[in-house]
This record gives sequence, structure tokens and C-alpha cells, in this order.
Amino acid sequence: MMIRLGLVGIGKIARDQHLPAIRADDRYELVATASRHAQLDGVPGHVDIAAMIAGDHRLGAVSICTPPVGRHAIAAAAIDAGLHVMLEKPPAATTTEISALADYARARGVTLFATWHSREAAGVGPARDWLSDKRIRAAHIRWKEDIRRWHPGQEWILDAGGFGVFDPGINALSIMAAILPAPLLLDAAQIDIPEGRGSPIAATMAMRSGDAEVTADLDFLQTGPQSWDIEVETDAGTLRLSMGGSVLELPGGEPVTREDREYPRLYTRFAELIAAGKSDVDIRPLQLVADAFLVAERRTVAPFQF
Ligand code: NAP
Repeated sequence: MMIRLGLVGIGKIARDQHLPAIRADDRYELVATASRHAQLDGVPGHVDIAAMIAGDHRLGAVSICTPPVGRHAIAAAAIDAGLHVMLEKPPAATTTEISALADYARARGVTLFATWHSREAAGVGPARDWLSDKRIRAAHIRWKEDIRRWHPGQEWILDAGGFGVFDPGINALSIMAAILPAPLLLDAAQIDIPEGRGSPIAATMAMRSGDAEVTADLDFLQTGPQSWDIEVETDAGTLRLSMGGSVLELPGGEPVTREDREYPRLYTRFAELIAAGKSDVDIRPLQLVADAFLVAERRTVAPFQF
């Protein structure tokens, strides 16, 4: 059955990834948008979710692409209206918000899908399968990108609740939590917050999974080559995931790159969840970020301007 979809928050990721994935998928019909400033040609636009729900669109589901602060109210309004909901990452601004949404969706009998797009990168599933019977000795995340290049003018990202460097860093944590057989626990963290800003521009995390040490080095000020890399040392050699999970290198092999189909795969999964009457809400990556804010040593660093 065709899913009549509303898209909320028409910004970078909605245009770059959601729209092409929705338009290429014949299970979906994009029937309305809700965004304060933006509209799409040929699609009825509203300034907010309430107006979109009040419009005569016979909506079945919404996909929410706004920043995390404010996401809970938008998603709760959609669930209230009996709509299935797909959430961009991070799924909410706080762990209690996403837990409450999961409870509410269950009570209302609608699907809630908290997406982690990086988990759909081509190398992640094969990496998880390969690691499942290995002894993990250590694992490292190096997630270093240039905020000015990838998030131009997104002031919200360095506001309180914007996640700062954890906005991309949570993608690495989502992969790590999915591929390591044992749970990831945080021991210590350090976060660097630019003077006058509310969220970190760099962070390190010391974690463990079973008896393996797991580290994360996150930086938003990386110019030159960018790195979205994960390394897992095992008793059978070292596995490397690079380019955000799309390139996988196993010990003794050449790096293997496959086509990036992260967002088409997310929309396929959303349709399958709706058809099966199920939800998929894994809050572990968000919990790790929240834990980092709980235990971190904080440093104030130089002011940052875009
Ligand atoms: P963005 O370019 O700033 O777009 C977000 C849109 O949400 C804005 O254009 C804005 O449209 C709307 N919005 C509603 N309330 C807002 C508020 N309080 N502050 C700012 N914008 C608000 O951000 P984005 O890069 O698309 O990121 C949105 C979400 O997608 C984030 O959670 C991010 O982590 C995730 N994501 C981003 C990327 C990426 O590469 N950029 C990749 C994967 C996931 P109106 O002004 O019209 O309301």
C-alpha cells in the first residue's frame, strides 16, 4: 500500500538524501512538507506540523529532518495524529525524550523508526558478521571533519542541545554499538567547548567492550583530508572501516567499496516496519553521548566563528 508521507524540516539532509530516496521509492508518495522557511516545488507546504496535519493530505507517515531540539514535540504531534514516524539521527535531544516517544508510539499502535543512517553503509553489516566470532582486543574511532565544509552556517549545531562534534560522532558510535559483540560502556571523556558556545567542537572518549579498550577521537576542525574511520583489532587481525562505513578492509584483503545506499535502505526499512506493525528504536548511541556529557572533563577553547 502506498505510504502518504509528510516531510518535516526542509534543510540540507532533507534535500541531499531524503528527497532523492523518497522519489525513487514507489512505496512512498510525498504529499506535504512542514518547514518554517522552505517549500518544495509542486508539494503543498506548511509552516509547521500542526498545519500539515490539519491540511487535507490523508497522511500516513512523517519523516522528521529538523535539528534534535524540538524534535520530540514534532514527533509527539505526529504520533498523536496516528501517524507512523521516522526520525533523523540523533533521534531526540535527550534520552528521556526518545524513551517517551517509543512508549507513546507503542500505546498509539504506530511505528517509530529511530534511524542511524551510518549503520546502512555498505561495510557495516559485513563488518558485524566478520567480528561476531572474533576476540576483540581494541577498537578506535577517528571521526574528524571540517565543520565549515559540512555544516556551513548551521549555528544550531554548536548551541546547547545541538550535539556539536557528537552530531557526526554519534554516527561512529552507532556503527561501533552495532558491530561489537559486547556492550559499549563509557569510562571517561573530555570535551572542548568554544568560548561562548553550548556544544563541543572536539571530544575524546575512553570506552570498553568486554575486556577491549575502545577509544574515540572526534574533531570538527579538521582541514585537509577528512577521516571517518574505525579500526578493530582482533585475534585474527585488524578490520578497518573507512569513509563512514562504506569501505571495508579485512585482514589480508584489499579495501572493498560498495555503492552507498544508506537512505534508500532506511526508507525500505521504514516501509517494512510499518507493514509489520513494528518499531525500531535503539537508543544506545544517544546514551553514550549523554554519558559523555555526564562524566566529561570540560575545557573552554578559543571562540569559533563559521
Ligand atoms: P539544516 O540544514 O540546518 O536543516 C534543518 C532544517 O530544519 C532547517 O532548514 C529548518 O528549516 C528546520 N528547522 C526546524 N527547527 C529548526 C531550528 N530550531 N533550528 C534550525 N533549523 C530548524 O540541518 P541538517 O544538516 O539537514 O540536519 C538536520 C538533522 O539531520 C540533524 O539531526 C542532523 O544530525 C541530521 N543529519 C544531517 C546530515 C548532514 O550531512 N547535514 C547527515 C545525516 C543526518 P526551516 O527554517 O524551513 O524550518
